[in-house]
Amino acid sequence: MTSVLDRFLRYVRYDTQSDEQSDTYPSTEKQLVLLRDLAAELRALGVADAGVDAHGYVTATVPATLSGRDVPTVGFIAHVDTSPEMSGAGVKPIVHTAYDGRDLVLPDDPDAVLRPRDIPELADHLGHDIVTASGTTLLGADDKAGVAEIVTAAAYLVAHPEIPHGPVRIAFTPDEEIGRGTKYFDVAGFGAACAYTVDGGPRGEIESESFSADAMTVTFHGFNTHPGYAKGRMVNAIKAAASFIDSLPVDSLSPETTDAYQGFVHPYVMHPSVDRTSVKLIVRDFATAGLTEKEALIASLAERVTTRFAGSRVDIAIEEQYRNMREVLDRHPAVVARARDAIRRAGLEPRSKPIRGGTDGSRLSFMGLPTPNLFAGEHNFHSRLEWVAVQDMDKAVEVIVNLAEIWSELRT
Ligand SMILES: [Zn+2]
Repeated sequence: MTSVLDRFLRYVRYDTQSDEQSDTYPSTEKQLVLLRDLAAELRALGVADAGVDAHGYVTATVPATLSGRDVPTVGFIAHVDTSPEMSGAGVKPIVHTAYDGRDLVLPDDPDAVLRPRDIPELADHLGHDIVTASGTTLLGADDKAGVAEIVTAAAYLVAHPEIPHGPVRIAFTPDEEIGRGTKYFDVAGFGAACAYTVDGGPRGEIESESFSADAMTVTFHGFNTHPGYAKGRMVNAIKAAASFIDSLPVDSLSPETTDAYQGFVHPYVMHPSVDRTSVKLIVRDFATAGLTEKEALIASLAERVTTRFAGSRVDIAIEEQYRNMREVLDRHPAVVARARDAIRRAGLEPRSKPIRGGTDGSRLSFMGLPTPNLFAGEHNFHSRLEWVAVQDMDKAVEVIVNLAEIWSELRT
């Protein structure tokens, strides 16, 4: 049988970078090349209904091996695109067999070195086979590791009809890296009771908490006039905005001063003019109440600034981005509990940490499909130093197969 490594080495050679400047869907045509090939590969494995829809989503069903029993349908999802932050063209994967703790120097750039000193996780992989790129591109383990693991698990289930399981649904999606992975995802058509994105880090991890996220636009309005004749008339919105930004906390509430369960506010773009200056911020917290608090703080700091600049005013727009998947998953505790069982059954200790970001699962959970994130073995994603251990990919395949079986044992 084809191994998860064979598949992974094949998939990373496809350039599937997404592009946030594009307004097509998928954002890049080249993602469709891999998506179509995946559908064909699944059909060749015996997953007869595998196909690509009008938006590029691949869906497929490994039919149930239990007949006449009401076993829930469970889904597994991975994305095919790679990050726009780093080239994914011409990826040359290298398998470093039986890792012995040395520095891994990537041949195409002498500065690209994986050092156990910088990457303590490498110490957990002595004796493992580690896959890297060659130094000038990302590897694409995010999320082609997840894709290879799901296809390999599907192949295993098809080849082992003696394993009891219900219907197993599969989806491969484009454009996750640019936040559009679920834009046209048909939750009702997918028809699963719950799903798992296979797009996480070290072996044993199950992620069920993500940030809740809003975007804010704070716009200061001033008044522009000829600067030579502006006395008593000009109101400079740039100065008001600068004063507002200067009033944001320096030692807390920022990406550069927080971790774990702490949230933040983060100004990241500004469009300045004397007449009108807008500041875009993102607001992050694990609790919706925490978002509201931070937004109230921003509003009061902005209002206070307008009292210093007579004649200025401010308006504030808030846009919801996504919500902590935990709000949904807490109402469906079996979804995470069974994943933890499946991880234990693969001989691993389940581990969880909060995701300081959003996943497609955050959005899918609120679209009616509870979807935590399972480990895929990814490390250093979006980087030239991205890597994955083959032994972790094998474990992820095992966990997927275990999950399919566990959902049939414990009927809802
Ligand atoms: Zn990913």
